[in-house]
Amino acid sequence: MDNNSNYNEKSNFFSEALSAEERIRFDRQLRLPGWNQKALKDSTVLIVGVGGLGTEIAKNLAMAGVGMLHLIDLDFIEHSNLNRQILFYDAEEGEPKSKVAARTLKKINPHSRYIWHYSNLEDVNPEIYANADLYISGLDSVTARNELMRRAVQFKKPMIDGGTATYYGHVYTYLPDVNSCLQCDPQRERERETLAACTLVGIPRKRSHCLLKGQLFFESKHNRPPDTTEMEEVKIALDYANDLVKEHFPESGLFTIDEAVKMIDQHDPTVISINAVIASIQTQEALKLLHHLKGIELGVVNPEYLIYNGLVGKFFYLEKPPNKNCQLCGENAAIIEVIELPESSTLDMLYPIMKRKGYDFDPEFLPSFWLMDRKEMKEAKNSFTLKETGVRNYETIYVTGLTKNNEEKDVYIRIILKKS
Ligand SMILES: [Zn+2]
Repeated sequence: MDNNSNYNEKSNFFSEALSAEERIRFDRQLRLPGWNQKALKDSTVLIVGVGGLGTEIAKNLAMAGVGMLHLIDLDFIEHSNLNRQILFYDAEEGEPKSKVAARTLKKINPHSRYIWHYSNLEDVNPEIYANADLYISGLDSVTARNELMRRAVQFKKPMIDGGTATYYGHVYTYLPDVNSCLQCDPQRERERETLAACTLVGIPRKRSHCLLKGQLFFESKHNRPPDTTEMEEVKIALDYANDLVKEHFPESGLFTIDEAVKMIDQHDPTVISINAVIASIQTQEALKLLHHLKGIELGVVNPEYLIYNGLVGKFFYLEKPPNKNCQLCGENAAIIEVIELPESSTLDMLYPIMKRKGYDFDPEFLPSFWLMDRKEMKEAKNSFTLKETGVRNYETIYVTGLTKNNEEKDVYIRIILKKS
């Protein structure tokens, strides 16, 4: 990597790192105080979720001249994406979003590299997470956000999260050791789980629970949620829900089919303007951060949780101090030991290495090794070589049964592969 001070000395206008075409293309930016085009060109950003927010952010960062973008998404293009996702304007329905996004971005700014991953974020090579400067989430799933956050915390990378719902949006930039991660506040998580559990059993306490129960009724029969483009499937959940409404909430009206579709389809409705505001704020925070990460001063990244209310045109902010008891980022979080091993070594070799690092293996039960960085956690046999097991560079392995000073310890081992 370049010496950070290089960035402050070099003139953008005459930088040899930029081609003549790039210097002309980015001329208006080069004039900005504090701006460093080469710093952006040398940066790598990982965007997870190439949907409403992700496509907009990718377009912005490509146009700003960020050198490398990794685009991760497991979805195909659907017709309903086209109301706000500009990168897909000439796509065929059914093409992977990440692939089409990369193709269009190359036309928008051919000077940068776009690497697409038709994959869930768990199965993307851990080396890519280790080498990116920062992560951006355009995800709509809580589980996926938490997975990305675990990588951000463990690789000590900033993560810029955004979300939109109806006329509202939020942006939150996780800064390692500065503010809270997504799991610092388990209270809310527990409340959500309790609510879900209460709703599942017993009589519905609210009218809305009837519809949820209708959906669960369908799921129990078909092992999947109803397809909201199939009227018949929605009607099964709807009829079940309305029977419950008649029984428990006789004074209130029955649900309509539109209400059922909105409830079952977890995609929050949103409008392009809110999407553009949130994506632009995420982009702006990313551009500052990419300068900071190269040692260049450019403004301040907002460490607070920002909420935009598009109906009244106002921003609100919440402070997010880190929780020192957090299981993921706090003082008692799992320890990460980084160990370099040749591909030909077996996991058995970890025993003496861990011993030297002061760990003991609980004699009560044999330790087991789990490969963490994949959709399905996989147990690894300790007599197999790393190569045979398919351990990738920077892969995280969880080890059970380790103690240090007679205390049980949660330990992750990050493997750095030495090419033999
Ligand atoms: Zn935390």
